[in-house]
Amino acid sequence: MCRDERRLDMVKITTTSPKGTYGLGQKLAALMKGGAVICLEGDLGAGKTLFVQGLAAGLHVQDEVTSPTFSIMNFYEGDVQIVHFDLYRLESVDELEEIGFYEYSEREGGVVVIEWPSKFPDELPENYLLLSIEHGGEENERVINVCSKGGKYDDLLEELKVICEF
Ligand code: ADP
Ligand code: MG
Repeated sequence: MCRDERRLDMVKITTTSPKGTYGLGQKLAALMKGGAVICLEGDLGAGKTLFVQGLAAGLHVQDEVTSPTFSIMNFYEGDVQIVHFDLYRLESVDELEEIGFYEYSEREGGVVVIEWPSKFPDELPENYLLLSIEHGGEENERVINVCSKGGKYDDLLEELKVICEF
């Protein structure tokens, strides 16, 4: 795992193996003991689930972490509770309300991961970390851009810059 770019508002991390992306999740977990919201973007096979598995491991979740593609939301108990949403199959704001999306995403103290945030751009919380995973040039390469939306996680982003430094 290495950081390529130094910019105030974005951290760009390149991983060269599944382990690297998992490890990024684990490292981020160390910064999230007080809770946080992460919006997670990336095509199928980008490494979203792997990243969340690393995050969950870093928060000492014992249960198996799987994709919420069909369940829409998964819960995990670790150092803090993780709620993992996949908005892909939802069609309306009513459905978001039904599943408690707003309560969970505004709640303090837990970690909330939202896949397919682009389906409901106007319904996202005011503050979140946006993490986009893209395929890199090589087969096992992924480029992961992390930015802070809304300001609340600016400091966390700065800390991430420091721990991804080597
Ligand atoms: P998604 O949830 O985004 O659909 P998954 O995490 O389920 O993706 O799968 C990612 C796949 O890509 C896994 O098979 C993993 O082994 C592979 N892979 C190869 N290189 C990487 C990398 N650098 N980071 C993450 N996954 C990688
Ligand atoms: Mg997945």
